[in-house]
Amino acid sequence: MKSKLPNASISIFAVMSKMAAEHNALNLSQGFPNFKSDPLLIELVHQAMKDGYNQYAPMPGDIGLREVISQKTANLHDKIYHPETEITVTAGATQAIFTIIATLINKGDEVIIFTPAYDCYDPTIKLFGGKTIPVQLKAPNYKVDWNEVEAKVSPKTKLIIINTPHNPSGIIFSENDMLQLQSLAEKHDLFVLSDEVYEHIIFDGNTHFSTARFPDLASRSFITASFGKTFHNTGWKMGYCLAPENLMAEFRKVHQFNVFSVNTPMQKALAEYLQTPDHYLGLSSFYQQKRDYFLSLIKNSRFKIIPSQGTYFQMLDFSEISQESDLKFSERLTKENKIATIPTSVFNANQEDFKQIRVCFAKTKETLQQAATILNSI
Ligand code: PMP
Ligand code: GLN
Repeated sequence: MKSKLPNASISIFAVMSKMAAEHNALNLSQGFPNFKSDPLLIELVHQAMKDGYNQYAPMPGDIGLREVISQKTANLHDKIYHPETEITVTAGATQAIFTIIATLINKGDEVIIFTPAYDCYDPTIKLFGGKTIPVQLKAPNYKVDWNEVEAKVSPKTKLIIINTPHNPSGIIFSENDMLQLQSLAEKHDLFVLSDEVYEHIIFDGNTHFSTARFPDLASRSFITASFGKTFHNTGWKMGYCLAPENLMAEFRKVHQFNVFSVNTPMQKALAEYLQTPDHYLGLSSFYQQKRDYFLSLIKNSRFKIIPSQGTYFQMLDFSEISQESDLKFSERLTKENKIATIPTSVFNANQEDFKQIRVCFAKTKETLQQAATILNSI
């Protein structure tokens, strides 16, 4: 059979988690919390199942959930997405991203992405005949040069994908970044896919500048979010997509033949749980404490560290420890030092190696202490 993705390899998240399990290593690679989510949320799912909410949900999602997502977005970003026509509940952000790209991209269309980039963007673009145009952000600060971005726009450019807070670097886009993006997208008439799965994990008093806040940008953007990331349940694969009515109508044409609808009892539970804004507004300080605790434990290690501004990831620069490739270095750490991390060159254009590994600090205090003991010994 002729492969549709001849160059695709197994996702680094699958590779590193498997290697961690095989070598009995502490797993700080794939991004998932190792503590329990709120028992109330689990109870609400249980209750929804017992109450008989076990059949297909409406195609765009439970209306109660869509209403509360609409209120949340209005409160946070002063922008109303209509629950009937502008919000769709998805099987995680991954399915939303796949569906957006399937909706927009035809053969020959170009899509600008910022590398290091989350791993599902490029193969999905290729599946639909599109061409990925990477803009490489450079360690250690990963700042965007908007002139460089504009230089990559061609008459074939259809979509630009952003991710703020950014996985894996932990940078966030400033208001100025968003204004630059807005004028670029307007000038060249581009669509925007705004991957905002870490919307509620922002540190040091900074603000999350969603594309929803910028009227022209919002009129051409699809926003994706993830309840798995937000509520410590990555295995639930629940998320949603926001877009103006004309874009959402096209998204739903694809969504209905992709999954049709997603998990009913979890939607019922989330509709109830989201009524209490504290359930998500406290996450920034919760994770900032974890980041600060972890960084205080490894401050005397030989890794060079710039504190992450958001997400639950931290980049560690190992250039003063080893000149090995980041792939070799992370493999050796997993097998010999018993700690698994993510080598980030796999997310870069041409696999450029900045000697940076990514660790996930969404872990218990005990796990962070064990991790620090190992990292301090390297
Ligand atoms: N985008 C980014 C940047 C991610 O880190 C992830 C992983 N959560 C996703 C999308 C996919 O989210 P989900 O697990 O909800 O599919
Ligand atoms: N988003 C998670 C990460 O960045 C992993 C998701 C996955 O395993 N596909 O680690």
